[in-house]
Amino acid sequence: MRAGISRRAFVGSVVAAPLTSQLGILGALRQRIASGGPTTPQPREHVVVVGAGAFGGWTALALRRAGMRVTLIDAWGAGHSRASSGGETRVIRAVYGGVPIYSEMASRALALWREAEQQWQRQVLFRTGALWMCATDDAYVRKSIAPMQAVGLSVEQISPDDAARRYPQMSFRDVRTVFLEPEAGYISARAACELVRETFVREGGEFRQAWVRPGASAGARLPAITLADGSTLNADRFVFACGPWMSQIFPDVIGRRIVATRQEVFFFGTPVADTRYDFGVLPSWLHLGKRVVYGVPAHERRGLKVADDTAGEEVEPTSMDRAPSPAGIARARAILGERFPALADAPLVEARVCQYEASSDGHFLVDRHPQLENVWLVGGGSGHGFKMGPAIGEHVAAVVQGRAAVHPLFAYGRLRPR
Ligand SMILES: Cc1cc2nc3c(=O)[nH]c(=O)nc-3n(C[C@H](O)[C@H](O)[C@H](O)COP(=O)(O)OP(=O)(O)OC[C@H]3O[C@@H](n4cnc5c(N)ncnc54)[C@H](O)[C@@H]3O)c2cc1C
Repeated sequence: MRAGISRRAFVGSVVAAPLTSQLGILGALRQRIASGGPTTPQPREHVVVVGAGAFGGWTALALRRAGMRVTLIDAWGAGHSRASSGGETRVIRAVYGGVPIYSEMASRALALWREAEQQWQRQVLFRTGALWMCATDDAYVRKSIAPMQAVGLSVEQISPDDAARRYPQMSFRDVRTVFLEPEAGYISARAACELVRETFVREGGEFRQAWVRPGASAGARLPAITLADGSTLNADRFVFACGPWMSQIFPDVIGRRIVATRQEVFFFGTPVADTRYDFGVLPSWLHLGKRVVYGVPAHERRGLKVADDTAGEEVEPTSMDRAPSPAGIARARAILGERFPALADAPLVEARVCQYEASSDGHFLVDRHPQLENVWLVGGGSGHGFKMGPAIGEHVAAVVQGRAAVHPLFAYGRLRPR
C-alpha cells in the first residue's frame, strides 16, 4: 500500500464508469455456473498455477472445475505463516467506497464461500456484521450504498447512541456516524486455504510443494518453469499468483509495481467467562479516522483481534523478522483501550506479522504478462484480497480461458513503479 494512502482513500478515488462491462462478465459467468452449463471451450490443456494462497488456490480450483488439467505449486503449502493468506481471520465486507466491481465481487464471493461451506461441511464464514465507525468523513460508506443495493446487499445507518446501547462493550466517543453492514463478517483464513487445496486435489488437481522460477522464454511464450531441484515442468499456460513474492519472480515486469509492506496483527485476552467480545455477540468493526483501524471478535478462543491498516515499512517476505515490534504493540494497545475501555489492560495473547502485497494504486492485478502470451499475473491483493478469493478464482479462470476480458481496473498497464 502506498505510504500515507489508506485503503479507504485509494479505493474511494476510483471512477466507477468503465466498470459496466465487467459486471456483465461476472453476471454471465455466474449464470453459466449456476445453470451447470459447460465451461470448457478449449481442449484439455495443462495449466500450472504458482501460489496456493487465496488467489492461486481458488484459481487452480476454478480452472480444474472448468475442465483443465491443473498443477498447483507452492513453496511452503496453502496458507502458511509467511503467506499473505496465512493467519487466523480476514474480514469480508461489501462496503467498498462506491467501486461497484468490488461490491459485486464481494457479493459473489459471499455466495461462493457459503457454497464451499456446504461442500466442506465446515464453517469458515462467520457472519458477525461489520460496524463502520466514521470519525469525520463517511463518504466511503455512503458511496457504497447504491452499488451494494444493486447486488442485494444492505448497509444501515444507526446513531452513535443506538450503537452504544447495542454494543455497550465498545466506546463510540470519537465517532460521528455509524453504519452496520449485516451480511459482513470474517473468514477463517489459513483453514480455508488448506480446504481449497484439499478440494482441488480431491477433484483431480495435482499439488506439488516446490519453489519455482519461470524458465527461459521461447519467443513470446514460456515453455516451462524450473523447480528448485533443477527439474523443469512444461505446461500450455501459467498463472503466477505469488502474492508478496511477485516482484522477486518478475523483477523487471513487476519490480516496484507491487511491494510487500509489514503489517502487525494482535490478539488480546478477554476476561474469564466474559463472552461480550466473542463471535455471535460482537460485530467485526472498522474505524475510519486519521488511520483505518479494525478488529474481529475473538475467534476459536484466540483473543480479540486488533490491527492498524496503515502500510508499514517495505519488507522481504521470506526472511523478514516476524517478531512484533514494541511500537506496534503500543499502538494496538492504544486502539484497544480507545474502542474497548474495559480491556485497556488486557494481556496480549498472540501476535502475527504479515505483509500486504500492495499494488501501486491498491487494486488487484489480473492480466496477461506483457511479453509472454501464455502467462498470467494475478496479485496485488493490497490488504483487501482474501475475501474475494472464490470470485477472483472464477474471474481468472474465465480470463485465462478467453471467456472474459481483462478488466481495466485490474490491468497491468495501469500499474506504476514506486
Ligand atoms: C495483516 C493482514 C490483514 C488483512 N486483512 C484482510 C481482510 O480483512 N480482508 C481481506 O479480504 N483481505 C485482507 N488481507 C489481504 C489478503 O490476505 C491478501 O490480499 C491475500 O491473502 C493475498 O493472497 P495471495 O494468494 O495473492 O498471496 P499469498 O497468500 O501470499 O499466496 C502466495 C503464495 O505463493 C507462493 N509462492 C510465491 N512465490 C513462489 C515461488 N516462486 N514458488 C512457489 N511458490 C511461491 C507463496 O508460498 C504463497 O503461498 C490482509 C492481509 C494481511 C497481511
